[in-house]
Amino acid sequence: MKVLAIESSCDETAVAIVEDTALLSNTLASQIDIHKKYGGVVPEIAARHHLEILASLVDETLERAGLSVYEIDVFAATYGPGLVGSLLVGLSFAKALALALGKPFVAVNHLHGHLYANLISFPDLNPPFLVLLVSGGHTELFFLNSWDSMKRIGKTRDDAAGEAFDKVARLLGLGYPGGPEIERIAKSGEEKYNFPRSLREKGNYDFSFSGLKTSVLYFMRKNPEAKVEDIAASFQAAVVDSLLSKTFAAAAEYGVKEIVFAGGVAANRYLRNKAQVLSKDKYNLYFPPIELCTDNAAMIAMAAYNKAKRGEFSPLDTNAVPYLQF
Ligand code: ATP
Ligand code: MG
Ligand code: FE
Repeated sequence: MKVLAIESSCDETAVAIVEDTALLSNTLASQIDIHKKYGGVVPEIAARHHLEILASLVDETLERAGLSVYEIDVFAATYGPGLVGSLLVGLSFAKALALALGKPFVAVNHLHGHLYANLISFPDLNPPFLVLLVSGGHTELFFLNSWDSMKRIGKTRDDAAGEAFDKVARLLGLGYPGGPEIERIAKSGEEKYNFPRSLREKGNYDFSFSGLKTSVLYFMRKNPEAKVEDIAASFQAAVVDSLLSKTFAAAAEYGVKEIVFAGGVAANRYLRNKAQVLSKDKYNLYFPPIELCTDNAAMIAMAAYNKAKRGEFSPLDTNAVPYLQF
């Protein structure tokens, strides 16, 4: 089964084709440089750029896979969460292709996409498992009993982990997105400052990162001589410690041996290494390929393939849902 998927939920236009579990081609056009000068993503500009580039990106993705559009069996797109104008561009394009070519359509939840990025490396991965979803807009812990039965056992009460990386990077005068910048600079720093880990009570699986961000700000004001590298390393250690201590505590309480990581922050090598150390071979840990942790269409195609395989198709009047939950 050949699936062509479009991802356009925010500021990345992305198209990918899978044949069953094999990734045939994967393209991405980032708008980061366009939005940089505004200090954040401008929704109208993002939607306009998706519209300008999508048709040629679909052509290029087909060409790289050596396929014509008539050979595609299923068309798919992200339908939420995200910016409504941006979502509508990819969603309408995929629905139009499905309608014109008489092929089925699959609407994909972007957050499920982040989880399914794992199936590109581990096509046989199956619940039950624990999922730590750590992205730019979400930080949530789920227990998946089966593909369609899940329980959310924790979530952030304020900022998402990726958002905290981005905000602290800005305080430190680093570029956007902040996660990779902090990871890079922290390598030459020391974890010498003890920033707070919040909500430490046993059995509490919620997260909170806005207090940590504020304490970094106050620390910088009080200690102007402190090295950026050391602050970055200490901040990264605090975020990762919060994420992993709760994840492993939940794994123990729920008696699961499989822990799956998803979302942009799962690209962080310090987090990956720390998780392996804490796991002590007691758990099987799953991470998507590093370049498929942040937004891409390969993960949407993989989610769509698995939904189609289970017979879960979507009607052509599926609308964009900006605040869709996991
Ligand atoms: P969501 O998926 O919740 O809608 P999003 O699509 O914006 O949000 P992602 O693309 O999953 O989020 O991830 C982007 C986030 O991941 C950014 O906040 C970025 O700073 C962070 N990130 C990317 N790489 C790293 C890294 N190596 N270390 C830490 N954080 C990272
Ligand atoms: Mg993005
Ligand atoms: Fe995302």
